[in-house]
Amino acid sequence: MNIPANRLDRAFLMHQSEYEEAALRVLRSGYYVLGNEVARFEEEFAAYIGTPYCVGLASGLDALWMAFRILNIGSGDEVIVQANAYIACVMGITMNGAHPIFVEPDRYHNIDVDRIEAAITEKTKAILAVHLYGQASDMEAIVRIAEKHKLYVIEDCAQSHGAGQNGQKMGTFGHIGCFSFYPSKNLGAFGDAGAVVGNSAEIAEAFRIYRNYGSKNRYYNAVIGTNSRLDEIQAALLRIRLSHLDELNRERQSLCERYLKELKHPDLELPSINTGSGCDTVWHQFVIRVSNREKLMEHLRARNISTAIHYPVSPHRQEAYRGLGYQKGEFPVAEAYADTVLSLPLFPGMTDKEQSYVIAAVNQWEKPL
Ligand SMILES: *Cc1c(COP(=O)(O)O)cnc(C)c1O
Repeated sequence: MNIPANRLDRAFLMHQSEYEEAALRVLRSGYYVLGNEVARFEEEFAAYIGTPYCVGLASGLDALWMAFRILNIGSGDEVIVQANAYIACVMGITMNGAHPIFVEPDRYHNIDVDRIEAAITEKTKAILAVHLYGQASDMEAIVRIAEKHKLYVIEDCAQSHGAGQNGQKMGTFGHIGCFSFYPSKNLGAFGDAGAVVGNSAEIAEAFRIYRNYGSKNRYYNAVIGTNSRLDEIQAALLRIRLSHLDELNRERQSLCERYLKELKHPDLELPSINTGSGCDTVWHQFVIRVSNREKLMEHLRARNISTAIHYPVSPHRQEAYRGLGYQKGEFPVAEAYADTVLSLPLFPGMTDKEQSYVIAAVNQWEKPL
């Protein structure tokens, strides 16, 4: 058996005729950018998340950097972000000339809320909360801190479509919720796509203007914007995927519950969920921790099982951010995660047989001394 870390075709095959019908509808319509499908998707996604506004964009990174730009956060400003974030989170900050201030993650791989206040200075303008691997951050605590210090809260929900805290979905707690619909995400398009959600009509309008060269009325440009438009085909396909999102997330959940129950190996640390704070997860990834990670990967690779590492290098240790001047050891929790995390194969459409094969292979691993 050959098991890749992810198989994007499986979710397509589950609802193939619906996707094909939607794509053909757009091809035949004569409207390809910012038309009816985008408007309908924006309404439907806003309703799903629970905000009045959604604005479709070209990618998750665009959602992030435009969020800081629209909030006027740039040179001389600081943004707090967890030290084990995905690189796009940090690029969204630095593309605006703002400075990322890293905070160690907690045991759930989200920002450690107990360490946020120590990182706040008079230059701090915002907290970027990244709901990593599908798990909701403790947004109630983050919002309390932000309100006390008068900071913006931006949520990176690129891995957490549908995750919530005490019944309220991620993306609705902060000022702007940023989403990616990159194909591998829980709500995945068939190409690049993204969106922002929020409660402010003013901010939504700013994104609408900004995504289209800064123009509200065609060829009259109020601000120096960009081109970040969600196209009609992706929007039409996303509407189909959104209508199945809860069932796809439930499938991820049952796969992960089985992993949690049946993976039995003394040297693996299995993921845990912050239920004490009312947080849930939509299981974007099933991330275990293991020392000797390379050996386990090799053992699995020899059995045609692929795994992935999200992520092998924390942003403060990336070559791109050498200029920030961080040394090894400055964020030991994040660095330990980077050295030990491993994502097991997980995708809607994974069969019982495939999962049994992975579980048996992991459980049989003889960890080298
Ligand atoms: C995927 C991802 C992004 C970037 O989204 P793109 O659509 O690839 O630009 C940002 N943040 C996180 C946490 C992600 O997983």
